[in-house]
Amino acid sequence: MQAIIEQIKCLIIGSGPAGYTAAIYAARAALQPVMYTGMTPGGQLTQTTEVENFPGYPDGITGPEMMEDFRKQALRFGTDIRFGHVSDVDLGSYPYEVTIDGDKKLLAESIIISTGASAKWLGLESEARYNGFGVSGCAVCDGFFFKGQDVALVGAGDTAAEEATYLSKLVNKVYMLVRRDEFRASKPMIERVLNTPNIEVMYNTETLEVLGDGLNVTGVRVIDNKTGKEMDIPVTGLFVAIGHQPNTGIFKGALEMDETGYIKTVPGSTATALDGVFCCGDAQDPKYRQAITAAGTGCMAALDAERFLASRENQFAHLATALTA
Ligand code: NDP
Repeated sequence: MQAIIEQIKCLIIGSGPAGYTAAIYAARAALQPVMYTGMTPGGQLTQTTEVENFPGYPDGITGPEMMEDFRKQALRFGTDIRFGHVSDVDLGSYPYEVTIDGDKKLLAESIIISTGASAKWLGLESEARYNGFGVSGCAVCDGFFFKGQDVALVGAGDTAAEEATYLSKLVNKVYMLVRRDEFRASKPMIERVLNTPNIEVMYNTETLEVLGDGLNVTGVRVIDNKTGKEMDIPVTGLFVAIGHQPNTGIFKGALEMDETGYIKTVPGSTATALDGVFCCGDAQDPKYRQAITAAGTGCMAALDAERFLASRENQFAHLATALTA
């Protein structure tokens, strides 16, 4: 068994807008926050292109640049930012025991969970087989490899619309596979897609199979769910942009969650059912899931943690006074 290496006052798990905002507030409040970034430092926004709706950037900014700004601001106030992955938590006794990268153990007096969410997959066997060989969950990461080629993209939300538009600038043609007869994306995003000549939107279309030659993707088999007609579309890439799953697996059984895995917090606060454990950002938000709302709840989590730690210190001070009286 590994020995406990240190005790941390305020542990922040995850480094998206929620985690960094929590870090800025916690560091300025002298909580000496330690942040473990997770395997994708900067979170989902590092895989996006232009962010136009985050206040303070009148000309827009790219996701990676914005997250770099967040990181610098958290560092400026002394956040201890560490690359590492929280692999296990024991919330059965206090202070809470946390395992990093499967071996290092530490104790945390307060925990801010800002683990965010990850891309969802269709669940097809052929999708998994060709993942990395033509199947991708991130247009910004992989679009470059499909320059001048024809690709398909599944999804109809803002992510899908944004990724289709991004791809349209690189590839020859994007087949956008929308399973219903309408988009879920916001109006300006839909308009952008519909006004892009090399995006062909195929409504009522579901993906049945990713076709390949054993090495790479060669096409995608789809079905029109109104007519039942199947067809093969010759493409070299399939991008999946169908939403996200909260990254909360390590807290299963320890914290209350909804059926998808979003951690439940007390309304109007970031408190979970456990004292000193707070949750912010996409890990607890199935509804808004915006960078700005994540940042807002990150701020709330730091303030909640600060109050929690202060009230514990007060209790100990009272106890010490009573014992010496
Ligand atoms: P959403 O949950 O909003 O959309 C997911 C889309 O994928 C839906 O259209 C859904 O179809 C479709 N889908 C789900 N499962 C399947 C499946 N098995 N086969 C085919 N299609 C499927 O997720 P997003 O990631 O798009 O957006 C998440 C949040 O992030 C939203 O609030 C969005 O507004 C925000 N966002 C904002 C951006 C910006 O402002 N720049 C950029 C990206 C995201 P159906 O509609 O039929 O359910």
